[in-house]
Amino acid sequence: MSRIRNVVAGVETVPQGEAQYRSVNPARLDDVVAHYAFSSMAQVEAAVGAARSSFAAWRGRSAIARAEILARAGALLVSRADTLGALMAREMGKPVAEAVAEAGYAGRVLQFYAAEAHRAVGETLQSGRPHVHYYTRREPVGPAGLITPWNFPLSIACWKLGPALLCGATVVWKPAPHTPFCSQALMAALTEAGVPDGVVNLLHGGAEVGGAIAAHPDLPAVSFTGSTSVGQSIYRTVCGRLARAQCEMGGKNALYVHAAADLDKAVTLAVEGAFRSAGQKCTATSRILIDRTVLSRFTEQFRHRVASLVVGDPMDTASFLGPLADDHQFAKVVGHIQAGVAAGHTVLAGGSTSVPQGGYFVAPTVFADVEPGADLAQQEIFGPVVALIPVDGVNEAITVVNATTYGLSSTIVTRDLGAAHRFAADVETGVVNVNLPTAGVEMHAPFGGWKGSGLGVPEQGLKILDFYTKWRSVAMQYA
Ligand code: NAD
Repeated sequence: MSRIRNVVAGVETVPQGEAQYRSVNPARLDDVVAHYAFSSMAQVEAAVGAARSSFAAWRGRSAIARAEILARAGALLVSRADTLGALMAREMGKPVAEAVAEAGYAGRVLQFYAAEAHRAVGETLQSGRPHVHYYTRREPVGPAGLITPWNFPLSIACWKLGPALLCGATVVWKPAPHTPFCSQALMAALTEAGVPDGVVNLLHGGAEVGGAIAAHPDLPAVSFTGSTSVGQSIYRTVCGRLARAQCEMGGKNALYVHAAADLDKAVTLAVEGAFRSAGQKCTATSRILIDRTVLSRFTEQFRHRVASLVVGDPMDTASFLGPLADDHQFAKVVGHIQAGVAAGHTVLAGGSTSVPQGGYFVAPTVFADVEPGADLAQQEIFGPVVALIPVDGVNEAITVVNATTYGLSSTIVTRDLGAAHRFAADVETGVVNVNLPTAGVEMHAPFGGWKGSGLGVPEQGLKILDFYTKWRSVAMQYA
């Protein structure tokens, strides 16, 4: 029944593994988006083989020639953002305005990396030896495995594909199973833009296919985005076979409302950070630390704003939150809410609030007076659930921000420059925001978590070029 196809060496094939998957519209469970098989291990072998075979020719093209293709693919994504956004909303429930914005962003990410082709790729060095021309150049790492999640099905794929292809790496890409048509639409744009057969190979699959990519001896680099437990296991596998790994993982991001905050702004940032995409962003705000001097005023305003948020069909632009992405997400998030209630935490919003039926909808939920060590304040929930934690001043806030195993993003809301600098210098997160939400990235800045949130070189920006390339030093005596 499905039109789900792998693309290997430029040929579309039906995935032939034994495991099957049903992608369901999470807002309307009677709408089955696709029912399809995952790839077989033979298909993984064929994809890696294609990436190997196409490597020499792709590496042999100039970076500028590769970039022209990337730029065309980016423009196609931008021009198709409306269609892609609607597809994304149906496959994983992201509100359509956010989904359209993501599709456009994904295209611009490819264009950003395309523009890098015109910049210097090495340096000229002094030599202590006479008449020696000494220089460095980047060489592509080889075929790379890319494993991506469902929550940003286009942009995360593009911020791996863009630098990989620019650098001359070829790719075996396994997206998350929830969003097969988004992945195929991205693959189609790459092909239409001129990516040669075998340079990008799309494999549909789940944990088994991802595991085979991580373990494959012919993939010298593997980049992963997803949960911390899977990322750490992939990192061990890839590094254990002495290859390169790069993993972006989960978060437990804190927004700190300092005594000198603009409270209206703090409320807006908290609502945006905690509940956009129904909290299913790695950078979503899931802890709000509030100075006791402003605790009651902030809490009352926040509660009021949360009560006004509309939960509903992601295709309806009035919906602030759509559904959670699938049954697994729904069961996990509801389980965290029930455990929070059972543990005796005060529910300030959500919990039992009614939401639309027929989909995986969860009301935005706020727990008050949460201890920093409580499960609600420690575990990544990845849903529209936030814990309010009272603190006394910036020193305690920093201690609490740092008291988790994660280290992805954090925010301080303040008009006090000293507090902002202190916070930005001492929190253990790879991303720090001042008077901005915990969520939100710009493609030219490095993006990477610390501690349990990230391993290896950060993504986006230009640091990631070091992941997809090896440095070569050339010493040339000319006399
Ligand atoms: P996930 O770890 O379950 O899956 C991510 C990808 O890995 C998918 O393609 C999946 O099929 C594959 N996979 C699953 N198990 C595997 C295994 N054992 N071996 C190899 N591959 C495997 O994560 P998810 O539920 O798709 O995404 C949500 C998680 O991703 C959250 O924890 C979120 O914080 C994180 N995330 C992080 C970032 C970031 O940049 N730090 C961005 C988005 C999402």
